[in-house]
Amino acid sequence: MESLIGKIRQSERIVLVSHVHPDGDAVGSLLGLTLALQQLGKKAEPYLRDGVASVFQFLEGYEQISMAPLPNDASLCIVLDAAEASRTAYADTIRAYAKRGALAYIDHHPNADLADLTTTQIVDTTASSCAELVLHLIRALGVKITSSITTPILTGMYTDTGGFQFTNTTEETMQHAADLMRRGGRLNKIVQYISHQKSVAHLKLVGIALERLNVRWKGRAGVSVLTHEDMQEAGALDEDLTGVVNELNVLEGIDFILLLTEMQPGEVRGSLRTSDNSRFNVAQLARALGGGGHPRAAGFTTTGTLIAEGADWRIAPFLVSSSEHLG
Ligand code: 5GP
Ligand code: MN
Repeated sequence: MESLIGKIRQSERIVLVSHVHPDGDAVGSLLGLTLALQQLGKKAEPYLRDGVASVFQFLEGYEQISMAPLPNDASLCIVLDAAEASRTAYADTIRAYAKRGALAYIDHHPNADLADLTTTQIVDTTASSCAELVLHLIRALGVKITSSITTPILTGMYTDTGGFQFTNTTEETMQHAADLMRRGGRLNKIVQYISHQKSVAHLKLVGIALERLNVRWKGRAGVSVLTHEDMQEAGALDEDLTGVVNELNVLEGIDFILLLTEMQPGEVRGSLRTSDNSRFNVAQLARALGGGGHPRAAGFTTTGTLIAEGADWRIAPFLVSSSEHLG
């Protein structure tokens, strides 16, 4: 933390970036830290290669977030909510910042390649969200936590804890959330925009995914699929997929849920979630499949096509619906 604070104090222009398919924690921590650094008098510029999904566009100041290429000439680059350079889609520029000792990152995922690129970091895998770590940093910097900073930070905490329901919701998380609300954080607005206003396309995808839900792998997993055709017929954008896997993750008696979605022809994304009392580590499974994440929420992307075979589905060319693959 001290090394990051030192670097921030020395830097005039700071670029900030988070991961592709940005969720509430990516957008919230990015925006919260950007506003705090601007309050410190820094020229802080936030970047997200995929832009800001419409559900998060109620956050004041989101328009500042740019989808342009990441400039390589700022004094410092801070990566948020990602452990791997490639997760940002700006890997080359990030490596260039690392080469000149101008890279930092703040994250709550297990270490991956960013840890080899810089030692200027705040990493705590027990934190509810990256936003919670950003809050510690903002406090340590002595920035006044104005109401415009509180709502993005609270959004990151809210979405990464599934609305303060997942097991990463600690007493400390609730205390931070209460403090943010006291300072103007609009929890009711967050709930309204993020949880209580779903698009028709999202609800259609939930319907199809529920219809196809099957228990597999000796009763250990609930598996469902969404094809590219489903996405098209529902008129779904990438962002309409957000949260579908969580809607499935209420099935009793299983260890985890796997939702396979054909994002575009030839590209299949897997989303993994464990049920509340499961000890299964989905991050290990995701890493084995080329992705990553947390023990309880992880994902991966693979090439292939989803093909129906009776009640089963497979990703051509490899089989996902037989028990051999999980042992
Ligand atoms: P989701 O299922 O919401 O897309 O992803 C859940 C979590 O898994 C994310 O918050 C992120 O931590 C992780 N994740 C998803 N996809 C990938 C991936 O391709 N690579 C890595 N490293 N992590 C991923
Ligand atoms: Mn996160």
